[in-house]
Amino acid sequence: MIDTSAFQGKKAAFFTLGCKLNFSETSTFGRLLSEMGVSTAGEGEVADICIINTCSVTEVADHKCRQAIHRMVRNHPGAFVVVTGCYAQLKPETVSQIEGVDLVLGANEKANLIQFLSEAWGGVKNGEALHRYHTQKTKDIKTFAPSCSRGNRTRYFLKVQDGCNYFCTYCTIPYARGFSRNPSIASLVEQAEQAAAEGGKEIVLTGVNIGDFGETTNERFVDLVKALDKIEGIKRYRISSIEPDLLDDELIEYCAQSRAFMPHFHIPLQSGSDEVLRLMHRRYDTALFAHKINLIKKVMPDAFIGVDVMVGTRGEKPELFEETYNFLQSLDVTQLHVFPYSERPGTMALKIPYVVSDGDKKLRSKRLLDMSDNKTHAFYERFIGYEAEVLFEKAARGRAMHGFTKNYIRVELPPSPDNDRLDNQLVKVKLGDFNHDKTALKALL
Ligand code: SF4
Repeated sequence: MIDTSAFQGKKAAFFTLGCKLNFSETSTFGRLLSEMGVSTAGEGEVADICIINTCSVTEVADHKCRQAIHRMVRNHPGAFVVVTGCYAQLKPETVSQIEGVDLVLGANEKANLIQFLSEAWGGVKNGEALHRYHTQKTKDIKTFAPSCSRGNRTRYFLKVQDGCNYFCTYCTIPYARGFSRNPSIASLVEQAEQAAAEGGKEIVLTGVNIGDFGETTNERFVDLVKALDKIEGIKRYRISSIEPDLLDDELIEYCAQSRAFMPHFHIPLQSGSDEVLRLMHRRYDTALFAHKINLIKKVMPDAFIGVDVMVGTRGEKPELFEETYNFLQSLDVTQLHVFPYSERPGTMALKIPYVVSDGDKKLRSKRLLDMSDNKTHAFYERFIGYEAEVLFEKAARGRAMHGFTKNYIRVELPPSPDNDRLDNQLVKVKLGDFNHDKTALKALL
């Protein structure tokens, strides 16, 4: 039994690091707290509760998490400080010892945030931090914290899956989030219908390894896609990221003729060298990846394709990086998300002897980022002068407003007091030239 009176009238502050999944979960924490009578602290206000949702994808991410925790503790003196997310799951003791941290919740516990909060809150005496933590071993992480929230964004983020069974040699995510698990198609349809009832028009499907959907419920991801496509109120869906070996041809072909799944894919390649892919324990080769890209482009010639690439992993000798470079150059993809490899304690990759220097990692990243700019620029240029439907997103007062076309071209409207009425509206525009910093095309209404 939760005593709601302890929550009434309190204010909470949130800080999120990492992936879309974390952002989606944080906004769900916000919603759960608001149902208990807790409002979000405004800019400069001191909160009673701080929630920090952490990431542990690299050493740098761990460092940023510690900085964020210190900052929140400093900015909200006396607040009850809760830390959750991947860093909290992997290093609960370290996190709980940080000055000012009251409660650390691991991957299994965050689903019961309110319960834990209400129990622990009473234990705080004279503002002294509790330094308490609750985490389970990876194999025991079983709960699925449902999440379908928009936070302060226009788009909704629907969490359809959590965890991963792949254990790629460089990755700690399965240790932080546990094995793959998912809710039923029926429950996800219900959440999407609720989002539509609240006026949501676009939903991004999020998860750790989305294509693995169905492990728990014996269902298929493509059937989830078909079921969601029937919800009329939702005009657009995007799949946040999907492993190439799980991106079925059937799914690609369905998306091409679907009502609301957008011609927009995000696919992790990680390396364009078959030898490096083997060292990474990835479950595909470059031939399969090229087949997926070619099929998408055959059935959806205007599709935007984003690709994750990791540079400087152990074993990536110079000639193998050149293979990646040439492979990516040959592919009709739109944007590269380039991540310099970072060593993670406890991962199998540490057994690979060949190490790439930081200087070489930087050079390789730079070459791929330049290639990415050229590809994105060429893609945008193809659509200048065409008409497109844009879903505009809320902008801060006095700032330019942005939105995306169906195929994920970023479109910009200059600041105007009239822009507010366009938030969450689908608007037909003519696509003009690039904006000043070439990050969007100008909208001509
Ligand atoms: S597929 Fe590989 S890289 Fe992605 S979360 Fe799973 S283990 Fe990590």
